[in-house]
Amino acid sequence: MRDAGRPARPIGVAVCALAFAVAAAAPAAAQTMDIYWIDVEGGGATLVVSPSGESMLVDTGWPRPEGRDAHRIVAAMEDAGLEKLDYMLITHFHTDHVGSLAELAEMVEIDQFLDHGGETEERNQQWRDIYLETAGDTRMVAGAGDVLTMGDVEVRMISSNMELIGEPINDGGPNPHCAGAENRPAASPENQRTLGALFSFGGFRFVDLGDLDWDMEMELSCPVNRLGTVTVYQTSRHGAFDGAGAPAHLWAIEPQVVVVNNGPRKGITAPHHYDRIAEVPGVEGIWQTHLALEADGHNTADDMIANFEDTDECQGHWLKASVRADGTYTMTNGRNGYSRTYAAR
Ligand SMILES: [Zn+2]
Repeated sequence: MRDAGRPARPIGVAVCALAFAVAAAAPAAAQTMDIYWIDVEGGGATLVVSPSGESMLVDTGWPRPEGRDAHRIVAAMEDAGLEKLDYMLITHFHTDHVGSLAELAEMVEIDQFLDHGGETEERNQQWRDIYLETAGDTRMVAGAGDVLTMGDVEVRMISSNMELIGEPINDGGPNPHCAGAENRPAASPENQRTLGALFSFGGFRFVDLGDLDWDMEMELSCPVNRLGTVTVYQTSRHGAFDGAGAPAHLWAIEPQVVVVNNGPRKGITAPHHYDRIAEVPGVEGIWQTHLALEADGHNTADDMIANFEDTDECQGHWLKASVRADGTYTMTNGRNGYSRTYAAR
């Protein structure tokens, strides 16, 4: 559904002209696609920078005193050598995903905005209003299946406003893990509306499905796995795996590396949340933006955790992936510089 007062352009139309304009202004080409998981303590804020220098921020984290999350985003942009954002994608209009947008927009230039185009409930409306005001006529509504490119990086929308891609991609097909798989009731409609995106660079694929819930994961993956397999999976709902992380979905998409964008007391809040991730066959590395203080020791290795402190002392370190054209990629912990290199399979 499109907002009647603000006609939104279909994504395909705006992109051609846009890509041309961006190319001239892009900084010197890097050799890698870089992904930063910015620590917003249980919200979403993931920055993707293509080798061409074009950039997309997915979500902005929370509204916090002194613009905490907006400042952390700007710090990651500086590390990446960015002077502006080409795209701002808001997965959905919950506070932990869009809350620092107004502050961020005061601090950095943003060229284009993307959202799911749906309405929302009364309690989220203030965030949607801020978004519409900030985006103005640079807003684009993205539908499931829409594609845009940032140089050699393809961004494909997987879910949007409760709709999903149709035909399977990336070796998807009938999913053997669906037999007897448990379903769970739908979460809040706004989670179900999540604009989720798959970023592909050569043989490397990274998926960020925002807060897509268990019920939608089952629709995406059963009886046919439409997403296919991915290289890096960002946990939906921050690893709060009572309402997301359906095993039939996780086992079908076969992530090699999992990044949990949790907070000290949000996301992984029970041992079985972490265990569900660790039990997925073929996972070679689990990285967490935070030590999960309520998980009773069920966390990944210390070197793969970016932040240990509770909120009052938290320094907001990021995790980063640097992806090379040959499919190898290095995960780095911004806290201690610890890194591991993987080969996308
Ligand atoms: Zn969330």
